Amino acid sequence: MQLKSLTLNGFKSFADKTTIEFNHGLTGIVGPNGSGKSNITEAIRWALGEQSAKSLRGERMGDVIFAGTAARPPLSRAEVTMVFDNTDQYLRDSPAEVTVTRRLFRDGESDFLLNGKTVRLRDVIELFMDSGLGRDSFAFISQGRVEAIFNSKPEDRRGIFEEAAGVLKYKQQKVRAQAQLQETSDNLSRVHDIVHELE
Ligand code: ATP
Repeated sequence: MQLKSLTLNGFKSFADKTTIEFNHGLTGIVGPNGSGKSNITEAIRWALGEQSAKSLRGERMGDVIFAGTAARPPLSRAEVTMVFDNTDQYLRDSPAEVTVTRRLFRDGESDFLLNGKTVRLRDVIELFMDSGLGRDSFAFISQGRVEAIFNSKPEDRRGIFEEAAGVLKYKQQKVRAQAQLQETSDNLSRVHDIVHELE
């Protein structure tokens, strides 16, 4: 799987629609301080489902929308699209080209699209969870993260290994299934009580 392109539109300092094409090999992004290099990696994390505004250096999620400059009014929408070449079926059961889009409007409305279809945040997170590209994976190492990983508690570090080993997705599915089982068992108890009362 390879990231083919990233399109930012109204995301942070990228007021105009900007597409970055990634070719084979290494891509370096260079520019003066404050020119938007970190905003590019944040756009990738955001499109993949980042939910913490703080980790995107904002107070609230709306801060990712272009806030305007002296010469330009603010925009009302941020949109980021990533296109992956998936011909190697790295993302199983997905098409040869996978497109992920995230949009956010100033009124708080937001949506995710997978290959042009509206999906839930959970669908995007699950698709990438064990791909090594998950929100918290080692694919993104921001300034200060290396130190944070070394200083993390053993159980937090275990989570990092679990993501790398590809078991995190199944652990989360297990937690959800257990919650459903518990709910069903509670409902059954209630039904038994009612039957008992009626007898
Ligand atoms: P450095 O090399 O210093 O780390 P950088 O190239 O990584 O800098 P970024 O931190 O990505 O730069 O970009 C910071 C710039 O983005 C600042 O000029 C900031 O004003 C601008 N910016 C951040 N959020 C928004 C927003 N919502 N609207 C407009 N501009 C924004």
